[in-house]
Amino acid sequence: MNALSVKQLVKTYKNGVTALKGIDLDVEEGDFYALLGANGAGKSTLISILCSLLNKTSGQISVFGHDLDNDNTRVKQSLGLVPQEFNFNIFEPIIEILVNQAGFYGINRATAFPRAHELLEALGLGAKKQDSARQLSGGMKRRLMIARALMHQPKLLVLDEPTAGVDIEIRHSLWQYLTELNNSGTTIILTTHYLEEAEQLCRNIGIISEGKVIENTSMKDLLSSLKKECFIIETSNPLSAPPSLSIAPTKLVDEHSFYVELEKSRPLNTLFEELSKLQIEVTGMRSKNNRLEELFINRINADSAQ
Ligand code: ADP
Repeated sequence: MNALSVKQLVKTYKNGVTALKGIDLDVEEGDFYALLGANGAGKSTLISILCSLLNKTSGQISVFGHDLDNDNTRVKQSLGLVPQEFNFNIFEPIIEILVNQAGFYGINRATAFPRAHELLEALGLGAKKQDSARQLSGGMKRRLMIARALMHQPKLLVLDEPTAGVDIEIRHSLWQYLTELNNSGTTIILTTHYLEEAEQLCRNIGIISEGKVIENTSMKDLLSSLKKECFIIETSNPLSAPPSLSIAPTKLVDEHSFYVELEKSRPLNTLFEELSKLQIEVTGMRSKNNRLEELFINRINADSAQ
């Protein structure tokens, strides 16, 4: 079953900005899914609609088969959200923040207390239970937000930039916690700017650009495309179309250059042999560094150029 299914989701804000232009997205139950996109791509809009903080213009969303419009209570029960901004009462003891949150989901205090203790221990906040939230560091506040989102034991946890502004040590312990949570059955969707984070944690990845999903693939496939090297080849003869090569895909850049994506294991000679056969004279060649980050930017650029 899909934990999340989004079909043709459109959101146009009152000011006329269409932030989501027909999003289709499926996340399987048990997945650890990364949603990547530059600022303004539409990630927060999507998450806000999913969590009923914002109304959609059109389209459909279902969470574990429950329709967002017709079965909103079940959707809310299934979902835990960790938003980017801290939005708790900073004067309240953190144990109370958790227990009160459980109350919104109909969980009584007797049940909520042990659960809150357990979560605070698991997230390394056990010693801080009675402190007010304002006494916590940024990393601790972030962990408190996660604990709060888990109080009603949601089957799907959505984290919006969970480690933004969190130092490296805390980030790693959070990653470990989230991995354990996912291994124990919770489906997790996160947005992140840290590609390393997506690479470390997530099995599948969606890339959003300007309100559209431009990539929806497994992390494994995305990373295996890094086993390829990309070159820009410059030619003396003008090209009206990218040369058709048997060894690698090509794409026209302009009249005198094209882009080729070559398996790293393949000797460059094979490329030149094919080009010679096609009577294409090479005058220059540039390598394009192809780390994940660059790949991500390339996809976005390629999409916005269309
Ligand atoms: P992201 O989370 O990927 O940074 P957002 O969902 O915040 O992207 O924004 C997507 C687009 O919608 C942007 O162009 C942004 O300016 C616009 N937008 C976001 N919130 C509002 C709003 N409340 N009113 C009008 N436009 C908005």
